Amino acid sequence: MSKPLGRGRKAKDPGNDAEPPRAGRPRRRGFATDAIHAGQPPDPATGAVTPPVYLTSTYARPSFDVAGPHGYARISHPTRAALETCVATLEGGESGHAFASGMAAIEAVFSLLKAGEHAVVSADSYGGTYRLCERLLVDRGVHVSWVDTSDLAAIERAMRPATRLLFIESPTNPLLRLSDIAAIATLCRARRVPLAVDNTFLSPFLQQPLALGADLAVHSTTKFLNGHSDVVGGVVVSSTRKLGERLRFIQQSAGAIPGPLDCFLVLRGIKTLALRMERHDASGQLVATFLASDPRAGKVHYPGLPSHPQHALALRQARGFGGVLSFDLGTSKRARAFLGGLTLCTLAESLGGVETLISHPATMSHASLPEAKRRRLGIGDGLLRLSVGLEDVEDILADLEAGLARV
Ligand SMILES: *Cc1c(COP(=O)(O)O)cnc(C)c1O
Repeated sequence: MSKPLGRGRKAKDPGNDAEPPRAGRPRRRGFATDAIHAGQPPDPATGAVTPPVYLTSTYARPSFDVAGPHGYARISHPTRAALETCVATLEGGESGHAFASGMAAIEAVFSLLKAGEHAVVSADSYGGTYRLCERLLVDRGVHVSWVDTSDLAAIERAMRPATRLLFIESPTNPLLRLSDIAAIATLCRARRVPLAVDNTFLSPFLQQPLALGADLAVHSTTKFLNGHSDVVGGVVVSSTRKLGERLRFIQQSAGAIPGPLDCFLVLRGIKTLALRMERHDASGQLVATFLASDPRAGKVHYPGLPSHPQHALALRQARGFGGVLSFDLGTSKRARAFLGGLTLCTLAESLGGVETLISHPATMSHASLPEAKRRRLGIGDGLLRLSVGLEDVEDILADLEAGLARV
């Protein structure tokens, strides 16, 4: 593990409070070293230090009864193999499986279920996860219960004999609610139900679900892993060989795989993940503190604030709080006025890039939720989500101040 982030907090290695992890491989060297080198030795063919991009759909075979390292590029290709090894190493898993988008990765995880089987999923998950489950999976006979997974008793109540997956997001999008990954993993293990964690918001630098006992870690690499808002991609890391083999089969059969250029860009982004996450985390804390101290900003949701109801859990299961937060201006009129005052923060979907992005979940990322469900979850018309970027934080704060002046 890398050293704990400096902020005087009592950071522990993830997993210290958990039962012995099933996988969660111990790290032989530091996180930043693995981010730069894992899966990426110099190219055996040319000596290239940077993983090369082979733009080819097929690879010549030594003979019809002897396969080479790669055959057809849907099944595998060198840049994807490098990316999969790198992310699996960073998450402490057995195998990595890269996909064409975060949603393709999540769809592959749900493809572990057959018709008649059931999943328990965090109620305030990413809007795309909700749409996948309610509009596609139901027609395949896979049923989902939406549960507040911060409540262990509620998870137990929702479990059925047919439950074959628990899928949680922690922190959630956009309200930054947490679920206790180690406690849920213990509950899942007793029932032999695989636990998958969407770890997009924190990245393996700040949180490692497999070390806390989860079976699968899922990412939209579009966000922090790539980090430069120029790729759409996803990845699943498995802690066990069995789940990994099944995911590999789904990946190769359904074919929602990323091409070499996208894999190259995500690998390049990951090389600076440790540095970027330290800054996202530090600036996120400063911006959250600034907004929380200003009554015009309304309620601020950020696990790093002592006022966050699960601040203690955040300290226990993650090494930092990340760069995403949300705050509630109360009404759509006030949100519009605030956005009208901004000149630096860009109104756009997505998060986790070098630039500060702001979004209005009710009409953007969470527009596919029925209005009643959205309101019940607390995603109101005045809620804004901020992905704090890597600009000088003084400039971000000045821009937010200009927005608040319009409210
Ligand atoms: C963006 C996002 C996804 C979906 O990923 P895509 O790459 O957009 O398909 C899934 N989960 C979370 C938490 C996300 O932020």
